[in-house]
Amino acid sequence: MSREDLGRSSWLFLHTIAAHYPDNPSHVQRQDAERLIDILTRIYPCAECAEHFANIVAHKPPDVSSGTAFREWLCAVHNEVNYSLDKPQFNCAFVHARWSGLDCTDDLNACVHSHGLEKNIVSNGSGKRLGI
Ligand code: FAD
Repeated sequence: MSREDLGRSSWLFLHTIAAHYPDNPSHVQRQDAERLIDILTRIYPCAECAEHFANIVAHKPPDVSSGTAFREWLCAVHNEVNYSLDKPQFNCAFVHARWSGLDCTDDLNACVHSHGLEKNIVSNGSGKRLGI
């Protein structure tokens, strides 16, 4: 698996979690979200990326106070990674549209096509589509 495949899958996982993070999180839910990010800064399986992410999180700690706040925080830190890799900035106003309510489990091909997400397809290298 390449660093890019790992990154796309990880962002998919994180943004999907954020999309479902509640508006009024309990103490335990806040703790879980903070711990998830904290753990990632140590065990993310690309050492250079983990160190880079740890630096970002150190100066911009996760805002887990609400679903909106957590999604905005994640979008902002993803943009910091994008910036360092010379990738375009993502407009965080569209983060909800991009990562929530997208049910591509039944017919992935049709879903990918209808949302114009062809370039986001995550494949396993042998042509098999794993997700978007
Ligand atoms: P990705 O950046 O993987 O994004 C996937 C999709 O998310 C995009 O197609 C777009 O639809 C959407 N998106 C893009 N930006 C945002 C945003 N701000 N908010 C919401 N949605 C967005 N790679 C390195 O080479 N060096 C690193 O130091 C590094 N650090 C990383 C740290 C973490 C925590 C993670 C998860 C990944 C890291 N990566 C790193 C991988 C890198 O971020 C990309 O995942 C990889 O380069 C593939 O990029 P991509 O252009 O396919 O889109």
